[in-house]
Amino acid sequence: MDKIKMKNPIVEMDGDEMTRVIWQWVKDILLAPRIDLRTEYYDLGLAKRNATADKITADAAEATLRCGVAVKCATITPNAERVKEYGLSEMWKSPNGTIRAILDGTVFRAPILVKGISPYIPTWTKPITVARHAYGDVYRNIELRVRAGNRAELAVTEGGSGSETRALIHSFGGDGVVQGMHNTDESIESFARSCFAYALDTKQDLWFATKDTISKIYDRRFKDIFETIYDEYYKEAFADVGITYFYTLIDDMVARVMRSEGGYIWACKNYDGDVMSDMVAAAYGSLAMMTSALVSPKGAFEYEAAHGTVQRHYYKYMNGEKTSTNPVATVFAWSGALRKRGELDASPELAEFAGRLERASVETIEAGLMTADLWALSTLPGKTSLNTEDFLREVARRLEK
Ligand code: NAP
Ligand code: MG
Repeated sequence: MDKIKMKNPIVEMDGDEMTRVIWQWVKDILLAPRIDLRTEYYDLGLAKRNATADKITADAAEATLRCGVAVKCATITPNAERVKEYGLSEMWKSPNGTIRAILDGTVFRAPILVKGISPYIPTWTKPITVARHAYGDVYRNIELRVRAGNRAELAVTEGGSGSETRALIHSFGGDGVVQGMHNTDESIESFARSCFAYALDTKQDLWFATKDTISKIYDRRFKDIFETIYDEYYKEAFADVGITYFYTLIDDMVARVMRSEGGYIWACKNYDGDVMSDMVAAAYGSLAMMTSALVSPKGAFEYEAAHGTVQRHYYKYMNGEKTSTNPVATVFAWSGALRKRGELDASPELAEFAGRLERASVETIEAGLMTADLWALSTLPGKTSLNTEDFLREVARRLEK
């Protein structure tokens, strides 16, 4: 059989530990025999990041802006232990943070659903994709302890004249705390655009909520910006594909999400997204079945698994043990990138292959063949636990059909 050709490359960001091992297996067992893979390869493994003073991470992000599509392996975010383990010259920053800063993107996390593993919320029969605004609010706050008898004020100094606007926060009768937060129109706008674009791209409704009844200026700004951008740029396109944009208050939203069947994108402010993405992931059963797409308002897409490098399994693997690490989210990162490449290049056979790859993965699990993490959760009768390579070979067998 002829291999599928790629008109343009995707940016390939290799990573660390067990996921780096799985990365190669996915390419060898599933991709290379069927596709003439064209990638621009960037090794974001910790050793290479250290050797390049982390320049390679920025280079990979720049390449993503140029190519439009990237696929990323999980990478170590160094802490003090890693600095020792890898003899690092510096505690390099989180690669995902660096890449996101350059792409200015929004992360969309979505679960992969399979029969036999039911969400803890039984009505959630379709995936809920959570989009988190990854800038500002409490994550860039300034906070102070305040002593009894002190006054806390909010002051804004005008750039030109230096004149001040002041507002009293609180006159403290007793000891307390105070916090300052900010966000920018630019960041909220790019968040809104990424959300509307991804909703269109995946043909799912977009839901968004804030607490604008209480926060009449701050949260209201988010609501207004979303509304303006929707009306101006997306309303017609949404109507054309038959999807809707829905805004409500965050507490009403939580109640609606609980009662929903899923199948939409839930755009969240930074803190809401931090909390809700973990809740939604836990409710769908497994972090190993969660995919993640970074969508840049500059028109670039980066796909990855939501989990980390699965360090504990890697140490076993290095000891010569065969591990049963779940490769499905990594496979879906590749299928997501290949589908997007196919769409952008008008290569339907590439997009179609991505679909087959995903179906083969799901069908393998639904046939009772799965890695140990899913085996522990699945209610399928006669289920079998396989090691990672054997599981990938089973997926490959189904791919031939
Ligand atoms: P993790 O790698 O996601 O693993 C946490 C635990 O979840 C594992 O020990 C394993 O449980 C289970 N697990 C996760 N993915 C799995 C899979 N595919 N198959 C089977 N089980 C899976 O998170 P971590 O241990 O907190 O972090 C390890 C490293 O990953 C850190 O250096 C961190 O910086 C990095 N990280 C990277 C990213 C990223 O690049 N996007 C994201 C998160 C973390 P059991 O051990 O009980 O089997
Ligand atoms: Mg969180």
